[in-house]
Amino acid sequence: MIRINDIVERVAEHNPDENLDIIDRAYIYSARVHDGQVRLSGEPYLSHPLEVAGILADMKLDAQSVAAGLLHDVIEDTHVTPEELGDMFGKEILHIVSGVTKLSKLPFQTSQARQAESLRKMLLAMADDIRVILIKLADRLHNMRTLQFHKDDKRKITSQETLDIYAPIAARLGIYWIKQELEEIAFMNLHYTEYSKMKSRISKEKEEGEKYIKTVKGYIEKKMGEANLKCMVLGRYKSFYSIYQKMISQDLEFKDIYDITAFRIILDTIPHCYEALGLLHALWKPIDIKFKDYIGRPKPNMYQSLHTTVIGPYGERMEIQIRTWEMEKVAKSGIAAHWSYKEGKPIDEDLSKTFTWIQNLVEEQENFRDPAEFLESVRIDLFPDEVYVFTPHGEIKSLPKMATPVDFAYSIHTEVGNQCTGAKVNGRMVSLRYELETGDIVEIITSKNHPPSKDWLTFVKTVKARSRIRQWIKIQEKERSITLGREMCDKAFRKHRLNFNTLLKSEEMGKVVEHFGFKTREDLIANVGYGKITPLQIIRQFLPKSGAEKDDESIFNKIIGRVRKKKPKGGVVVKGIDDVLVKFGKCCKPVPGDLIKGYITRGFGVTVHRLHCVNILKTSPERQIEVEWIRDTAEKFPVKIHIHSYDRVGLLADVAANISKNEANIINANSKTSENKTVEFFFTITVEDTDHLERVLSDVKKVKLVQEVKRIG
Ligand code: MN
Repeated sequence: MIRINDIVERVAEHNPDENLDIIDRAYIYSARVHDGQVRLSGEPYLSHPLEVAGILADMKLDAQSVAAGLLHDVIEDTHVTPEELGDMFGKEILHIVSGVTKLSKLPFQTSQARQAESLRKMLLAMADDIRVILIKLADRLHNMRTLQFHKDDKRKITSQETLDIYAPIAARLGIYWIKQELEEIAFMNLHYTEYSKMKSRISKEKEEGEKYIKTVKGYIEKKMGEANLKCMVLGRYKSFYSIYQKMISQDLEFKDIYDITAFRIILDTIPHCYEALGLLHALWKPIDIKFKDYIGRPKPNMYQSLHTTVIGPYGERMEIQIRTWEMEKVAKSGIAAHWSYKEGKPIDEDLSKTFTWIQNLVEEQENFRDPAEFLESVRIDLFPDEVYVFTPHGEIKSLPKMATPVDFAYSIHTEVGNQCTGAKVNGRMVSLRYELETGDIVEIITSKNHPPSKDWLTFVKTVKARSRIRQWIKIQEKERSITLGREMCDKAFRKHRLNFNTLLKSEEMGKVVEHFGFKTREDLIANVGYGKITPLQIIRQFLPKSGAEKDDESIFNKIIGRVRKKKPKGGVVVKGIDDVLVKFGKCCKPVPGDLIKGYITRGFGVTVHRLHCVNILKTSPERQIEVEWIRDTAEKFPVKIHIHSYDRVGLLADVAANISKNEANIINANSKTSENKTVEFFFTITVEDTDHLERVLSDVKKVKLVQEVKRIG
């Protein structure tokens, strides 16, 4: 078991000025609260937090992180409460330990490979302090190192999860040694046969292999030296896991893999890289199709290097990478520029700064000098535009930030969205406007009889939810025109002593539907509601076509003619429905510019009223419908006005002149004179719209002795 003194010494090495008391205190506290607990290995539990702290010290982290590492399991596995931990070690450490605890509670077990990227992002998004992730990685590394004490199936699950989630995170944070160790242990546990084959072959050929690496290095150094190229040559065995990946991707047997070693040449400048490439190709014959120029065309994650495969000194394939020191640094630190390079968008400078910082955090300790800056920088939001939430089955959904349970419901299925009545987040009821947070477990409550609300359009964030809600409203409007059309037909048929409902089911109606070119009876009725055809046109199809036909027809034509003359009350459209039969309320006489509301009458289309007309206020809301004015209509609209004035000779003529000079027609006039020498005029005039009316009213007001002019009705 690692000793606490070793850990403190290692931290002191990198943080000479830091007060390391906190590590000792954390150690004593952790030992006390974990006392009596035992690992599967039989060791006291304390060995685990100690090893984790040791790994964090190897990562050159600060004293706070190492102390948090010692305490990382106390909230989850002991009786210690967050309050107590905060009192003992302060807010910073409490924040980190709580973060680690939160991550370990994520319902991971159902993870699938296709969800891996979402899970990785979720983990990172939840860890608002990068040290939480680093502790989680150290925790996982030690658990992997002691995996042999677990049962076979548990080892496999943990190993797969490590490959899917933790190794890639370590790689992106640039902690390559952790990535590699995690992969090797996971590979060993998942594919033991392949692993041991590789191991035995490499140990058998070890002496030979090392001699080979030395020889090749020698050749390369000599060649570069002759050209006066300053360089460093590295030769190494590839990791078992990377060899295995190659076997899989190229469908090879292990015995067919020759290049289990790899070489790298690091130089000062880019021209030197190309020069070195030329020299290598002169020395050994290149396999052309294997050459990749990632300097000229960097990978999306900013990785740069020249890759070539040549036929080496013994006729074997040999992989060589050529790059500058700068490229080496980027490749090693993984500068998760990878993340900042999101979906082809230009690199976010802040984000790449963050990653440069993480890289420094991992590699150097210089940045610890200013504690304020340090604390500010470890708080990160890596994915500011997204949230990651779980379904109750542990599936992850990625949604835009500020998305709501309604967005979530539609992302599951349109039906779930359309029937969504409420939501539970982490087991508690929330409002449908609740803003989802990363890590939330969301459960949608549905009910068959609960329609989507137009209101939802004001807060949903996803395109899918928005378009599905709109679509639903449209269908609703069609249903409304069917109701309307049915009522119009009912009434008109009754007038002709016909029963619409009975006829609707008849064979003849089928022919009528066809006659008008519709597909279904419903379409026919809806089109009556839309005003595309009249009930009379349908009735005609049911009347006898005998000798009397001619007369009947002419009568009908007259009726239809009247209806048609009445019908084109232009100026208004019913929202979502074309060409519906529209009339204006006689009570309030709306004119363009007025706020208006439609009312679905029983059998006579839609009547338009002014919004505050007492008659519309009395109607039932289900029959009310949105209507709006059409902008450019040539039509004029009647409106009633009332004028109060003192009487005088020529008053009426002056008022009438002021009305008609505005090109408003007077269609009706009444006056009432009283004993006290005042007079009341009531005019019905036609105007274009409310502006026009205003002009008329203000001109009439200018007439001598007129006291008051106003619109009535
Ligand atoms: Mn742990």
